[in-house]
Amino acid sequence: MFVYADNAATTCVSKTALDAMLPFLTTGYGNPSSLYSFGQKAQEALQEARVTIARCLNAEPRDIYFTSGGSEADNQAIVSAARLGARKGKKHLISTKFEHHAVLHTLSRLEKEGFEVTLLDVHEDGVVRLEELEAAIREDTALVSVMFANNEIGTVQPIAEIGALCREKKIPFHCDAVQAAGHMPIDVKAMNIDLLAISGHKFHAPKGVGALYARKGIVLTNLIEGGAQERGKRAGTENVAGIAAMAAALQESCEHMEENTAKILPMRDRLFEELSKIPHSKINGSLEHHVPGTVNMCFEGIEGESMLLLLDDAGICASSGSACTSGSLDPSHVLLSLGIPHEVAHGSLRLSIGEYNTMEEIEHIVKTVPAVVNYLRGMSPVWDELEKGQRKHLI
Ligand SMILES: *Cc1c(COP(=O)(O)O)cnc(C)c1O
Repeated sequence: MFVYADNAATTCVSKTALDAMLPFLTTGYGNPSSLYSFGQKAQEALQEARVTIARCLNAEPRDIYFTSGGSEADNQAIVSAARLGARKGKKHLISTKFEHHAVLHTLSRLEKEGFEVTLLDVHEDGVVRLEELEAAIREDTALVSVMFANNEIGTVQPIAEIGALCREKKIPFHCDAVQAAGHMPIDVKAMNIDLLAISGHKFHAPKGVGALYARKGIVLTNLIEGGAQERGKRAGTENVAGIAAMAAALQESCEHMEENTAKILPMRDRLFEELSKIPHSKINGSLEHHVPGTVNMCFEGIEGESMLLLLDDAGICASSGSACTSGSLDPSHVLLSLGIPHEVAHGSLRLSIGEYNTMEEIEHIVKTVPAVVNYLRGMSPVWDELEKGQRKHLI
């Protein structure tokens, strides 16, 4: 049995998205900047996609800029807010400890340029505290950047409250909504969001296409210079097929959101219910504020990487917070930000499911994971020490 349970990493391209893109890869390949009608057809498709995406986010179409994905949108949002602030002498940026690297690494680069960065704690439940944000805000704060839903543990932040606070203090608010778009309702107006990043491949469009919402009045800084595409703010011939697919996929996800959530929640609950029975296991992050499909757990005494290889043998695609494959022995910054000890964070497993999964697949997972954990613990010197009482159980 093949089970794809890594939807937070990427998703399959839906039939709707594929159908929407095919005309632009076959007969309708014109350049949207060309003046003849063959090119203008592609330009019309871009405008339609802008309208569709804006509708899904309750934004104005002119405030949507197409990018190469979530990372580029995050980079451009943060750099733009920083440059705007710097012009007024404001060089303080606030974000959280568990953002995606697209946000954290952009902030570190700005820090090297002389900006000051405050990263808020996310506590054991994986949720930012409003009082702590308020206390961190200064006269010279140029940006608050808080993600909508975390990609590793799935916790959702109090976005509307953060937006209201930032609006009151007149500080631009950027939200990395890559894990939320298409999965949870987003309303940039009601939530007072000034900048927002989404990525097509997290909601069944292809990889390499995303969008940045920038409220009117937020002047964007160009990351890529060239032609006058995207109102002069993002050069490069547009990925027309990808953009058309992204709009179709987002519309479909938003139209079926309640139905998809109703399908995903019982599967997620079954995962939690069964996997929590494994001794010395722990659910990471609050379940109260959560995207529907993401499950993150730690199992003491094992390595997440070994677990992934054995799950792969059983046909299961999952992910782990530990980063041995990337050449680093440090566990995920997200799990560490929750205060989880290094040893425990190494034994983490992320399963992220979507509406394409079935309960039969979930049954395969809940049968396989406990067996894999047992097997690995049987060979683990750390587990042996834990069992003999030579080492203290941490969970
Ligand atoms: C996937 C992801 C990104 C990056 O998006 P890409 O389109 O892959 O560049 C950024 N932020 C979060 C939260 C993500 O999950």
